[in-house]
Amino acid sequence: PPIEELSALRAQFPIITGHPELAYLDSAATAQKPQAVLDAVQTYLTTTNANAGRGTYTWANRTTDLVEQTRDRVKRFLDDPDPQRSAVHFTSGTTEGLRTIARDWLPELLADGDEIVVPVADHQANISPWLEVQQQLAGQGVRVRVLPMPYQRASGDYDHTALASLAGPRTRFVAATHVHHVYGGDMNIHRIRDAVGPDAVICLDAAQSVGHLPVSVAALDVDFVVFSGHKAMALPGSGAVWARQTRGPAFAPGGWSGTPNTVGIASLAAALDWLEAAGPDRIERWTVALAARLTEGLRHLDAYEILGCQTSIAAASPVQRRQGIVTFRHRDIDSGDLGFILFSHGFMVRSDSHCQGSAGEKTHSVRVSLHVYNTEEEIDRLLSVLATLG
Ligand code: PMP
Repeated sequence: PPIEELSALRAQFPIITGHPELAYLDSAATAQKPQAVLDAVQTYLTTTNANAGRGTYTWANRTTDLVEQTRDRVKRFLDDPDPQRSAVHFTSGTTEGLRTIARDWLPELLADGDEIVVPVADHQANISPWLEVQQQLAGQGVRVRVLPMPYQRASGDYDHTALASLAGPRTRFVAATHVHHVYGGDMNIHRIRDAVGPDAVICLDAAQSVGHLPVSVAALDVDFVVFSGHKAMALPGSGAVWARQTRGPAFAPGGWSGTPNTVGIASLAAALDWLEAAGPDRIERWTVALAARLTEGLRHLDAYEILGCQTSIAAASPVQRRQGIVTFRHRDIDSGDLGFILFSHGFMVRSDSHCQGSAGEKTHSVRVSLHVYNTEEEIDRLLSVLATLG
């Protein structure tokens, strides 16, 4: 895409333009906020702030409307083909969303002897809730089957051969991730559906995809999409679960039983508006191109190993490609030290084991994660600093 257009988007992030000496390369941890989101928060708090769902006056009614309209906004953003049937539940983020499904919904779905598929190399937030359900329902013979994802694999995808052999008539629920938070691979969700058949429920951790690429539930045959507002340019403490509600019981946790995060919901509505106007397809093209530039550069530096998803963008098949996340490590320099060295040059990256499940131990590394406000110049500068350490 033309660089001019994206620099116009970059110009809308005050924290980015205010710090030209720094390069924010940690958007997988949290994304920066455009002016439109900051304005929406200010406007909500100075014109409308009230509690939702219980009012007899204008501000309260407007707040209730905001919450209901944002549910519809989330459905539209996710390209929901059947918004009359689906449900949106607001949460504080992906972690709480996945927990809510595990705690309030999954036990109702499962019958004796049913199996849950859990991806072992996913974010911890997408592992522990399902293990707890197994523990809770062990007396009913409910058990977890582990979906492997060997990180040495060039593809950075789930092991679909293993999935084909562990999937069977008892497979009732599958936890999966849309874009992996360490390897950056855009997972083959269609292949998961093919392996587990039409009746199993698929729950998608979309923490790293919503806001980064088009996420269409019309195209993906999944039952839940769970994401965090703060990674999609809204405020921390906002997030949503989208539920298709065609397989298993209705998804209706909580209702109006407490005070929702109305400011967070206002920010989420504004963030989704902003993202839609910017164009998730355009954001994807840009971050994929930046990630390819970085991986191509790293490939020429012998001291570095890229983790997972090693195929270049040109070679990657259309369904398995690297999104804007590149994780690597240096042959000799500890990843924590490398993160520190990079920050001394103004680069903000993530360096640790990235909250992964059992695979975390093996993947201590530096992660660069990109968004619409990053530039080719930042990537080139990062590569030249990395080259001096090689
Ligand atoms: N899943 C994935 C794939 C993530 O990357 C993250 C955040 N790093 C989470 C879940 C948890 O998100 P949150 O902390 O916003 O609840």
